[in-house]
Amino acid sequence: MSIKTLDSTIEYFGQCHCQAVQFSFNSELINSALQCNCSICRRKNLIMSLTRIASEHFTILAGKDNLALYLWGDHDVNHYFCKTCGVSPFSDINCEPFGYRINLGCVDSLDLTQLSITHFDGRNEL
Ligand SMILES: [Zn+2]
Repeated sequence: MSIKTLDSTIEYFGQCHCQAVQFSFNSELINSALQCNCSICRRKNLIMSLTRIASEHFTILAGKDNLALYLWGDHDVNHYFCKTCGVSPFSDINCEPFGYRINLGCVDSLDLTQLSITHFDGRNEL
């Protein structure tokens, strides 16, 4: 996928595996990521954006109707996933600070092996 610069930020494109769900977001250059060991993240082995992307910098380009929602625990986090391929491209939350946490595995322009990973102890801190 191509990227283009927009002022100091970069527009990234992401998609689920079957490409039904496509999205874009603007962010500073991504060279770091978050990995969490809570009960759901460890099962998905998610490598996520370190920061949340504000909703005004996030756009669902296609497939909004193909997203299903999984809620668990206190229901604060909306875990979206594609109804067709099951991939979870992003999540958002129902409390401040609002914004989207991106599954960076869905962003083809990123090499996940080159990202500096911050480990979050969600298993004990959530
Ligand atoms: Zn899909």
